[in-house]
Amino acid sequence: MLTIYNTLTNQKEKFTPLHKGEVTFYSCGPTVYDYAHIGNLRTYLLADILKRVLELNGYKVKHVMNITDVGHLTADDIGQADAGDDKMLKAMKRERKTPEAIASFYEKAFRRDIEKLNIEKADFYPRATQHVAEMIKIIQTLLKKGYAYEKNGNVFYDVDKFKKYGRLSNKKLSELKHGARLEDHPDKKHPYDFALWLKAPKNHLLQWDSPWGKGYPGWHIECSAMSMRYLGKTLDIHSGGEDNIFPHHENEIAQSEAYSCEIFANFWVHPRHLLVDGKKMSKSAGNFYTLADIVEKGYSPMAFRLLVLGSHYRSNLNFTWTSLQQAEKNLQKIETFLREIKKMAEENKVEVSSFSERERNEFLKISIGNVKPKHCLDKFVLAVNDDLNTPLALSLVYRFIKEVRKVPRLTPEQIKAILVFWEKVNKVLGLKFDFAEKSDFKKIPATVKVLLERRKKARQQKNFPLADELRKKIEKKGYLVEDTPEGTVVKNKM
Ligand code: AMP
Ligand code: ZN
Repeated sequence: MLTIYNTLTNQKEKFTPLHKGEVTFYSCGPTVYDYAHIGNLRTYLLADILKRVLELNGYKVKHVMNITDVGHLTADDIGQADAGDDKMLKAMKRERKTPEAIASFYEKAFRRDIEKLNIEKADFYPRATQHVAEMIKIIQTLLKKGYAYEKNGNVFYDVDKFKKYGRLSNKKLSELKHGARLEDHPDKKHPYDFALWLKAPKNHLLQWDSPWGKGYPGWHIECSAMSMRYLGKTLDIHSGGEDNIFPHHENEIAQSEAYSCEIFANFWVHPRHLLVDGKKMSKSAGNFYTLADIVEKGYSPMAFRLLVLGSHYRSNLNFTWTSLQQAEKNLQKIETFLREIKKMAEENKVEVSSFSERERNEFLKISIGNVKPKHCLDKFVLAVNDDLNTPLALSLVYRFIKEVRKVPRLTPEQIKAILVFWEKVNKVLGLKFDFAEKSDFKKIPATVKVLLERRKKARQQKNFPLADELRKKIEKKGYLVEDTPEGTVVKNKM
């Protein structure tokens, strides 16, 4: 039985989807105005782990993650996120590019990051700018039903009209009324109302025609429009970082339920934030990291994935370089173990891919020293099914490896069991190792090989300026260097 903590009810609940065997899952995705930071990536990894656990339970998951390329304003840590500059326009000024160029550049970067982290692809990544018509339609209905009001080309949601407002975030309207941090807008009836549509200043680059004149959508409406468009009126699961609970998700519920008269999402899943050295990440504090920063320091994306798996999603993940170093060591231990098993499998001509599911499950019943793979796998499944307890699940895998290592000589039957065990647990863990030699090393000229060796040493000694210098020298000789979780890959530029 799978249980998940539901923010809506503040308790762990047995998960059952609306339609047997199928799960509709919507996750709030990136605002593509900058690189994703490692906090964002923790949240996306949680969505991936949840999806994999659902699949482990036999569900077919239909997953949608939106790409916000308009409407997300900068003052989103206060009030209703209606104030500040549009994040996209801010980036546009910073980089002197068109909004389309900014969005396309950072969306590509986001896709590269998730691929490096071995995050399973969602079924759709809809972009907000391509769904403005659907947003307008919802806003028109909300106006018709009396849940919204228009003034001077701006449309606001009338929060007083939605009786369930505040249920997700446990906020009472009476408290919001006195709240000090809600920004005022001259056209709002109440400071806690939020924007559905905003009138665009004349030269605003992102604007659309609407029944209320030229303007652009508020941030929250895109998720209502895109989730309903791709997944229907009621979602089984909706996820996003804990900062999304209020106002973003509270407002999504208000808009969607007033529009459709149906429950918007049955389960709300919110991972807690990643902190760096115990503090909120911010560029000004100098503790703001991206996946590229991690790779640049010589760590692999898979080490970050392992670090995320090692903490429970409902606790803050305190990122430190020491913790990442430990994760990298653990990753190497797993990799070495698997490499050895793979070698033994080759030597013993053991392979498991041609066997049926029933046969593979049979292999697991054998004993290996003090462990029984079947028993260990059952416990693993119980752990991940208990509100995604990945730290416990990982500790079971480490114990399994430790016990297997004590066995002096493994039989072919035991090797089969280990291969099947790993295959099954890794469907959830999602660790990626590529044991095949990726570069055609033999064809690389000796001068480049020397430079590569020197660069490897520089990276091991964490001398990154030197490593960078050597990379440039290698590039000048016509070779591209790419640092991957499996080591450095060299490609001929041609
Ligand atoms: P954004 O691009 O700002 O819309 O954020 C994308 C996702 O990352 C949202 O679901 C946020 O809730 C989440 N997020 C933002 N900051 C953090 C953080 N420090 N730790 C974990 N998740 C975060
Ligand atoms: Zn959203």
